[in-house]
Amino acid sequence: MNARFDVIVIGAGHNGLAAAEALAKRGKSVCVVEQSDAVGGMACDRLAHLLYNPAPSGVETREIDTVSLSPEGAHVLIRRGEARFTSGKPHPDAAAYQTLYRRLVRYAGLLHQLAEAPPPGLEQGVTSLAGLRELSRLAKLGVGVKRLGKAEMREFLRILLTNAYDLLLDEMPDGPLPGALAADAVRGAFSGPRSPGTVLSLMYRLRHGGGVFLPAGGMGAVAGAYAEGARRAGAEVRCGLGVTRVIVEGDKVAGVLLSDGGRLDASAVLSSVGPMQTMRMAGIAEFDIEAVRRARKLRAKGSTAKLNLRLGGVPEFTGLSAAQVKARLLVAPSVAGVERSFNPAKYGDLPKQPVLEMVLTDGTGPSTLSVIAGHVPETSWTTDRRESFTASVVETIERFAPGFGSLVEEADLLTPEDISAMTGAPGGHWHHAEMGLDQMLTTRPTVGMARYRFGVAGLYLCGASAHPGGDVTGAPGRNSAAQVLADGVA
Ligand SMILES: Cc1cc2nc3c(=O)[nH]c(=O)nc-3n(C[C@H](O)[C@H](O)[C@H](O)COP(=O)(O)OP(=O)(O)OC[C@H]3O[C@@H](n4cnc5c(N)ncnc54)[C@H](O)[C@@H]3O)c2cc1C
Repeated sequence: MNARFDVIVIGAGHNGLAAAEALAKRGKSVCVVEQSDAVGGMACDRLAHLLYNPAPSGVETREIDTVSLSPEGAHVLIRRGEARFTSGKPHPDAAAYQTLYRRLVRYAGLLHQLAEAPPPGLEQGVTSLAGLRELSRLAKLGVGVKRLGKAEMREFLRILLTNAYDLLLDEMPDGPLPGALAADAVRGAFSGPRSPGTVLSLMYRLRHGGGVFLPAGGMGAVAGAYAEGARRAGAEVRCGLGVTRVIVEGDKVAGVLLSDGGRLDASAVLSSVGPMQTMRMAGIAEFDIEAVRRARKLRAKGSTAKLNLRLGGVPEFTGLSAAQVKARLLVAPSVAGVERSFNPAKYGDLPKQPVLEMVLTDGTGPSTLSVIAGHVPETSWTTDRRESFTASVVETIERFAPGFGSLVEEADLLTPEDISAMTGAPGGHWHHAEMGLDQMLTTRPTVGMARYRFGVAGLYLCGASAHPGGDVTGAPGRNSAAQVLADGVA
């Protein structure tokens, strides 16, 4: 087997695979090394279920509605900016919602160009070709903001750094309609809608127009398509083999050591695992003290759990038609309720009223309700705690779907601890590192490490901890590959 490549990618999560495809397409010899037996990392059927952005080629998707469930039975049916009650009656806040939603999507479109390239920076000066290109990219963004018009530009700049709580409740009364947007703003993050930067995270998620898509064949098919794309471009993907060490010789990356004792040589190594793990693999002594201190202090407290409930039949939700049950179902009854569910997490406790996102997957086998629960503790999951949390999620659903509990045949709970053990994601965190204002854009994952280059010459980050963060987008992987090509290290 070949032991010399231009580039080694650590981890066949979808970002590692996206990076490999982009580099192989540019003629680089690439080997992706994955510790587990399967590709996809967190983009797998047991964890992720929906796409907010275009799927890789070869995967069919279906856009689905969102139903934000109301404890009083006045459920709201939402598709992009349109909202009405599931009964078909108009919602009194539909117009205010539509105006706000359209504005957010318009602004999010501006962030799109920021997300699909390394974060802006003029460290190379403006006298080189690269510097001039960067300047023109920044100018384009500026023109985009200016084109909004004076009033909209002011509004964009005003809300950019605010919190979702204030923004939403300034525009409409509290309830399941703004509750849905509040839940979307914080899903996967250790934050509540009152936390700073939550409007920016919401806009990131809306940057492809705000649709919610169910991939045919589940997230496993999405991961398979990323792997197929990398292989088709000429990259090798080796599973069941962990990287134990990044070899550094003369202050430059020289390759990796593998869990079977083998060695692969390369002048560039892209790591899709967390910054601290990557540092440990390369050897802490290779980094500045300040860089190590910052990486140690990164906030990456996982707070999302996944519960896969295998059902003996299709559940009936009061007030929902059979078609509406197949929408994305949210339990986020109000913005204040989403904030309240975050409070216990700050002290390592379970939420009393968990915020849930649920999708019924009814392929060929028995139905499964795929449930993402927010604001759960990162650690200390005893058997009792696992059981009581599972019971509280089932009870919460039972309130909307009487008899639901009796349909549950099997419950597969994955806590942040489990997710971390399964994929290596720091803290089991959805984004590998919190999406706070201090860990975004030119400071993602942290100050001085924002352009994928990671301390040692030839070493790069290419996973969710890098700009623009998590979700199944492939953007950090592609951007990192672009940086490697621009640096000419491989
Ligand atoms: C419960 C949950 C539900 C989610 N649901 C959604 C969703 O519905 N939609 C969405 O868009 N996003 C969702 N996400 C977020 C999304 O899955 C992640 O942000 C994204 O998959 C991260 O991809 P990645 O490639 O950067 O990292 P990862 O997927 O974490 O991949 C890293 C890979 O590196 C491998 N690895 C680790 N260490 C080594 C080593 N030493 N050697 C070799 N390989 C190694 C791991 O095994 C893994 O395969 C969810 C996340 C969670 C936790």
